[in-house]
Amino acid sequence: MGKEYNFKKGRKGQFPRSTERRGFVAQMSMKKKFKGITEVKGGIATLNLTPGRRVYGEKLVTLDEKEFRMWNPRRSKLAAAIYKGLKYMPLNKSSKVLYLGAAQGTTASHISDIAVKGIIYCIEISPHALRKLLEVCTFRSNMVPVLGDASQPQDYLHLLEKVDIIYQDIAQPNQTEILIRNSEFLLRDNGYVMLTIKAASIDTLVDSEKIFVREIKKLRKAGFNVLQDIRLSPYEKEHAFVIAEKKSIT
Ligand code: SAM
Repeated sequence: MGKEYNFKKGRKGQFPRSTERRGFVAQMSMKKKFKGITEVKGGIATLNLTPGRRVYGEKLVTLDEKEFRMWNPRRSKLAAAIYKGLKYMPLNKSSKVLYLGAAQGTTASHISDIAVKGIIYCIEISPHALRKLLEVCTFRSNMVPVLGDASQPQDYLHLLEKVDIIYQDIAQPNQTEILIRNSEFLLRDNGYVMLTIKAASIDTLVDSEKIFVREIKKLRKAGFNVLQDIRLSPYEKEHAFVIAEKKSIT
């Protein structure tokens, strides 16, 4: 697992509530600098692709006449993974991403800020969530909303192309199998997957660590090289975040 955030006495801000209550804030210090992700006021932020617009009530900060959107680790598991020491960041400005479980577009919108010249195909099963997602996509031309079930990739295959990264956050018992199936159809060779595992969605009777190990093994068996796995507490309890690379066949 990677190095975690540092606790430091400081101002109040968009940091973990429990730590603020104790008079401390989590001060972000990325061990690795990632392109498209900026450290701003002790947190992380992305350059707003749609200046003046918020997606989920996030704070907007202007620096050198550029507007940044603060990226809240309590609202986005990708931000939580960065706070918890993510070492690999395959996202870049041209990335093509398949996002399974995009919900209202909270994390997908930050990916959209980074992959400005790429595209994010956002699959979401809930028509209710999709309504808000549609609003977000109206202003972000690199986000494509798709009402669909991630467990049935054959239903949306024809709408997509092969992607560089599959990001999955769907909290389903068979979530790893769903990711593997999508990757068989839609991930390019040497592409990456980013998977969030919610232990409680898989089995409430088994210890979460055992579940994480079991799901990671499934990825390895499917031909992935697992680069890093991270526990997301205190931002998300009993959640793991895994980044893995698809091994090339040749
Ligand atoms: N990733 C989002 C973010 O960070 O902004 C939050 C995702 S939320 C935890 C999980 C989402 O997955 C829900 O919106 C849910 O409707 C969706 N979902 C669950 N099962 C799905 C499936 N089989 N196919 C597509 N979406 C699914």
